[in-house]
Amino acid sequence: MAAPAPASPAAATRGPVTAYVALGANLGDAVAAVSAALQRLAALPQSSLAAHSSLYRTAPVQATGPDFVNAVAALRTSLTAPALLAELQRLEDEAGRDRPYRNAPRTLDLDLLLYGDARIASPRLVVPHPRMHERAFVLVPLAEIAPQLVAPAALAAMTSQVIARIP
Ligand code: ATP
Ligand code: CA
Ligand code: CA
Repeated sequence: MAAPAPASPAAATRGPVTAYVALGANLGDAVAAVSAALQRLAALPQSSLAAHSSLYRTAPVQATGPDFVNAVAALRTSLTAPALLAELQRLEDEAGRDRPYRNAPRTLDLDLLLYGDARIASPRLVVPHPRMHERAFVLVPLAEIAPQLVAPAALAAMTSQVIARIP
């Protein structure tokens, strides 16, 4: 008997894992963009929003333009990591993301920080996100929802980066 055809990568699933996604925006109404993106993350297929941090306002780091609004979300998802990245990129596109040059201001940026305890190094996807440990705008909101994942020393090393929780 023939084996069932493998699902396409975009449809591939596995047992649920907890994935952490960093959200950022610094064009237009960035608070609205990040808030809307949280709702869209909650509506992703085979996924649920387990937690999200407060919104934070941060000065640009390794980037240009106006201040950023940042947050981190925890998803329980059965999407594979590449399928989740494809969904994140679709949400960026729907938010009008344009990539005129590296680190340009953006309407919405969604980075996959962690996917369970997976280590991934493909041309299109590196997990854990290679620059997350340099960034207060990632570590501070991540520590709010998952303090066990952020070493106090890592947070202490970030104090020169200006970040303020939006009340
Ligand atoms: P940075 O990655 O330093 O935060 P950026 O978010 O501005 O920079 P983008 O232009 O949004 O960079 O993404 C560039 C490419 O990074 C994407 O096309 C994607 O394939 C790749 N990429 C690799 N690993 C990841 C990841 N963990 N999350 C999101 N994109 C990733
Ligand atoms: Ca980014
Ligand atoms: Ca990105």
